[in-house]
Amino acid sequence: MRLSKGFWQTYKEIPSEAEIISHQLMLRAGLIFKSASGLYEQLPMGLRVVKKVEQVIREELDKANCNEILMTVATPSEYWKETGRWDSMGPLMLKIQDRAGRELCFSPTNEESVTNIFRKTVKSYKQMPVTLYQINTKFRDEIRPRFGLMRCREFIMKDAYSFHVDKKCLDEVYQQLYTAYENIFNRLGLEYIAVEADGGAMAAGGAKTHEFQVIANSGEDKIIYCVDCKYAANLEKAHTIRVKLPLNNSKDALKTVDTPNKASCSDVAEYLKLPIHQTLKSLVYTSIFGEKEEHYLILLVGDDELNEIKLKNFLNSDHLKQSSEAVLNDFGLVKGYIGPVNVKSDLKILIDSEIDLNAAYITGAQEKDKHLANFIVSRDLKNFKQVDLRISKEGDNCSKCGKNVVLKKGIEVGHVFQLGDKYTKAMKVTVLDPQGKAITPLMGCYGIGVTRVVAAAIEQHFDENGIIWPAAIAPYQVYLGYIAKTPEVKKIANDLYNDLLKKNIEVLFDDRELGPGFMFKDADLLGLPLCVMVGEREFLKTGMIEVKIRKTGEKIFIKPEELMDYISKNINV
Ligand code: ATP
Ligand code: MG
Repeated sequence: MRLSKGFWQTYKEIPSEAEIISHQLMLRAGLIFKSASGLYEQLPMGLRVVKKVEQVIREELDKANCNEILMTVATPSEYWKETGRWDSMGPLMLKIQDRAGRELCFSPTNEESVTNIFRKTVKSYKQMPVTLYQINTKFRDEIRPRFGLMRCREFIMKDAYSFHVDKKCLDEVYQQLYTAYENIFNRLGLEYIAVEADGGAMAAGGAKTHEFQVIANSGEDKIIYCVDCKYAANLEKAHTIRVKLPLNNSKDALKTVDTPNKASCSDVAEYLKLPIHQTLKSLVYTSIFGEKEEHYLILLVGDDELNEIKLKNFLNSDHLKQSSEAVLNDFGLVKGYIGPVNVKSDLKILIDSEIDLNAAYITGAQEKDKHLANFIVSRDLKNFKQVDLRISKEGDNCSKCGKNVVLKKGIEVGHVFQLGDKYTKAMKVTVLDPQGKAITPLMGCYGIGVTRVVAAAIEQHFDENGIIWPAAIAPYQVYLGYIAKTPEVKKIANDLYNDLLKKNIEVLFDDRELGPGFMFKDADLLGLPLCVMVGEREFLKTGMIEVKIRKTGEKIFIKPEELMDYISKNINV
């Protein structure tokens, strides 16, 4: 591409609305254009990167026997109503009406559409397993669109869906897609971790699911990671063990102690001069199942926090909320002084797995300004269940190998998920098994945020001067420019451009004659792997041209006739 004919504008100033580096650099380097909140147009440079990401994905999925299709972006409400998601998606789904008053939406995802295609096409186990995928636009009316392409409202996603006669087959294809994802992210030059994620209550025991997280400070997700055994899980899902601290082994009888105006565990611990891990925190939650409500008292070690997702999954509840004052009053509970002793039997008790059943703790006494000392679960509590309910912390012991875990920030770029029969059951899909019996197939789904990948790649590859593209997704491989007054030297640069084109090397030719300062700044900002500069002074003196490696800043001088060879050898720098 000759820049004199191109459509490319760069910016010196950091755009005020852009908080994170990828957003800043994408705007500054003229990759994208903001049209409205969460809506970005892809400009020529940005689109080339998107296409490259798509191509890598396509190649690896095709290798993994996936079939590319293209579904419509506008999808009719009827399919969504079959699964209940027309309502449950809530305001995330952008709904529209056609001229006949029929309801449609801009697809935020496509399980319903693909399941509809499948049920009308596939009748027998002989046509399975089968995986369909598309690379297409999604619309999600995110509550807080931000960070440019990282969390926008309209974005490009690759979404794949697999169909199976049994769980064994689903497991196999899941593993194949998982491996394809590893290949994709390796080829894209991203540093990532595949983490166990929360599968919600979609299948018994929680559905199997992994997120592919790119490690970056700007990441919105938190990941627990064990450097030793590589255990990795999204914080929502992570199970780790508290570092053991001395507990109180006293067997003394329960005793009420005064704790005036000390309503939090930290205040109580400080007041009683005890470590906070010898206190217990009591929370009261209301779980809603259809029309029914149940109330739970949750006990956690004083400095732990409740992981509401674990609780919701354990209870399999439709909806979970902290109990209202009215509920607390019904149970005779006093806020700040709630405890598990002598509570009404319809308040069910759940205690976190990190509470030692035989240790003595301080807990609320159900009375203002009072706590109970020497509370021992195994002695003082009859009906309770012990489950993992706490949020993991950095420094905890790994549940697999016992070493200390760390907390990292990640950007979710991909997601693989075993859906089970959630959609096929709701949409009444059946196929004939080898015995001729109608069975409900199982599904897997597999997403990659194509446009988010571009942003994530920049978050991992930049310096103070701009982007440093991994070669696989750089918009071009070579930035070619010249600093010359004489037509002879300009011709050298022109000839090089034509030679590179002939060799199918992607070259961006800066023939705008803007002056070296602008040119070098733009070249660094755009961050192509190699920058080739024909400098008149150098060339006339030595016959050499300059090649700068963007990643290292290293400059070498070579003869024009050696350039092709050098580039083909170093294109992957
Ligand atoms: P998040 O938790 O970040 O909101 P999600 O889990 O809802 O994402 P999925 O339904 O798993 O997203 O979608 C598949 C992929 O699409 C995600 O892994 C992510 O890379 C991408 N994606 C999701 N939402 C957005 C968005 N608003 N902007 C850009 N990419 C997105
Ligand atoms: Mg996800």
